[in-house]
Amino acid sequence: MRGLSKSRNHFLVIVGIFIGVAVLCVVAYYGVYVPYVESHTTTNQRSRILMDTTVDIRVDARNSEELVNQAFAEIEGIEKSLSRYVDTSEVSKINAHAGQWVEVSQFTIDLVKEALRISELSDGAFDVTIGAVIELWGFGTGDYKVPSEEEIVQALKTVGYEKVEIDEAERKVRIPEGTILDLGGIAKGYAVDQASRLLRKSNAKRSIINAGGDISVIGRRPDDTPWRVGVQNPDNPADIRWILPLEDSSVVTSGDYQRYFVFNDQKWHHIIDPRTGYPARELKSVTVVTESATVADALSTAIFVLGMEAGSRLVEEMAGVEAIIVSQDGVWISPELEEQIL
Ligand code: ADP
Ligand code: MG
Repeated sequence: MRGLSKSRNHFLVIVGIFIGVAVLCVVAYYGVYVPYVESHTTTNQRSRILMDTTVDIRVDARNSEELVNQAFAEIEGIEKSLSRYVDTSEVSKINAHAGQWVEVSQFTIDLVKEALRISELSDGAFDVTIGAVIELWGFGTGDYKVPSEEEIVQALKTVGYEKVEIDEAERKVRIPEGTILDLGGIAKGYAVDQASRLLRKSNAKRSIINAGGDISVIGRRPDDTPWRVGVQNPDNPADIRWILPLEDSSVVTSGDYQRYFVFNDQKWHHIIDPRTGYPARELKSVTVVTESATVADALSTAIFVLGMEAGSRLVEEMAGVEAIIVSQDGVWISPELEEQIL
């Protein structure tokens, strides 16, 4: 009996010490460490034109100015590798040698794989082999025109994500001759993700990156509430129709008002339905909320093509994905997001 109560006393002493240390740690963290970090945190915010859009980066960190520079450099580097309008990019190399195996960096392999995964999920609504059709319409070069039916039929023959081959071991990609790879529907999200990753690794306390509607945030606002992201009304982009709370996550919007030209009183925009070769007409805008900006970027384009019914079904099937879909005659908001809207 005596032995038992002795070991019980020991046990209580150990528990006491443990609780004492835990309390001390909490007091030290909130009393010393948090004020230390806060008092050494600076804010830096700047905009630059990159990836053919305005990229705005705000970082709160001890070395915020340096981190903003590094984040821009990261995005610039990715644009140089992935833009098909940069002659020396890896994508240009793949396109210039269509029909042959081309060695590329691991991140190009990873991104092409991710693009193909979204193609499969969306039954080909998202298809990065759409390049020849985009070229025909003049998106990218700015030489806009409505192509003839015959031109579209010819260009569509070069489209088909299932014909993209990847050799993981050799780090090589091959597309069929005549096909043009265009990562424009996913690369911006990827660049935003990579810049956020860099900031997170460098211990940024909080950040918000906005690349023309592809948005990713770290942490919360200085007042400890989530960041607030406005979603535009596609009929009047100056009007913010919804405000979404965002914390360590991404929001991407694809809209028919973002890049288009007007011909014969019709708006011809740059999200093309790979089944027809024409701009997808059913929807006006699609906003996707999910952790990865890469996934959100590709999915917003995919859903724009899929339309309301198949698009909302895809969102419901995917874990951790929320969306706002605006069509010509209605709005669908995924139930969980509906509850969060501010
Ligand atoms: P934004 O660049 O305005 O954010 P998106 O992310 O929707 O818009 O991407 C549109 C771009 O994606 C086009 O400029 C083109 O390069 C490419 N694209 C267009 N249609 C498709 C499609 N069906 N699948 C994959 N990429 C597409
Ligand atoms: Mg996109």
